[in-house]
Amino acid sequence: MISSVCFDDVLLVPQFSDIISRKEIDLISCLDSKHRFRMPIISSPMDTVTGTQMARTMSDLGGLGIIHRYNTVTDQVAMVNRALESEYPEGNEVIGVAVGVSGDYLERASLAAKAGAKVICVDIAHGHHALMRHALKTLRNTLGNSVHIMAGNVATLEAFNDLSDWGADSIRVGIGGGSICSTRIQTGHGMPTLQSIIECSRSDRDTALIADGGIRTSGDIVKALAAGADFVMLGSLLAGTEESPGDTIFDKGGQRKVYRGMASKDAQLEWRGHAASEEGVSSTVPYKGDVEDVLKTLEKGIRSGLSYTGAHNLVELRAKSKFIKQSSAGQRESFTHIMMQDV
Ligand code: IMP
Repeated sequence: MISSVCFDDVLLVPQFSDIISRKEIDLISCLDSKHRFRMPIISSPMDTVTGTQMARTMSDLGGLGIIHRYNTVTDQVAMVNRALESEYPEGNEVIGVAVGVSGDYLERASLAAKAGAKVICVDIAHGHHALMRHALKTLRNTLGNSVHIMAGNVATLEAFNDLSDWGADSIRVGIGGGSICSTRIQTGHGMPTLQSIIECSRSDRDTALIADGGIRTSGDIVKALAAGADFVMLGSLLAGTEESPGDTIFDKGGQRKVYRGMASKDAQLEWRGHAASEEGVSSTVPYKGDVEDVLKTLEKGIRSGLSYTGAHNLVELRAKSKFIKQSSAGQRESFTHIMMQDV
């Protein structure tokens, strides 16, 4: 049996730094030779995370938003059109769109690309699958190299290499780690996201790695990037913001918004009228205000993280970083523990 590590099992060792100001640090990351982003953050294609507003704002702020696929083709194309109206000076004008691997996926991808989406994300729970192989080959044959094709999710190096060989330009890595995910409980399958990143980052393919699922803090983001991820994909951290789809509701004594897994009973009933295997839950999260403020706070933490390793950019972070394992006593000590003194 192979042993594995998750985010809380490890810490990055602080190292000599000559970084005077965190502004010196650049967080630029590339999905491929044509798509460069100021910030290595992608918003998840979920119906309570990325619609028009989130996709546009992510693009405006130098990241990427993937518009979810739980809608009609016409609605999704309209969302792409609205998301691309932006005239923000720092914006990168890159919008992503999610599709599945059966039914209308080819029509969806073709119309989204025609409308100006530059990234097509083939979005299924178990990406190491024959249907994924067929979809990737079909999309590549139909769309050529005019769009970037993202695919996932996978957990292993073998799967990463296969998806790359089938035509994926970037791959979402992480199975069972999402905050709203019950896949590991329901099916007994999964792998800690950090372990999957470490393994997939050993690939010799020129394919960007997107860490997806279970990222709770800027510290987790720094660990994911240090372990070999080119980008992180965020669900819960961006849910509950002004730009995430859905109304603000009054619940549990405050303003909140719904955040739900796309394989939760609620989501499945709404989008396809019946629920198959339930591998996610539906919940509410506190209303967080503008996503720009959330991203600024995360960015400060990430920059500070690079400065502790003495890394000026993400390439240096990956090359220099040293992980150590921590014990469960170490984990307890890592969390703010002033409150424990009252116990
Ligand atoms: P979070 O950032 O920890 O909230 O995880 C978000 C990720 O969970 C998404 O990007 C998907 O990869 C994954 N995900 C979304 N819906 C479900 C679900 O219903 N079950 C399992 N995983 C899900």
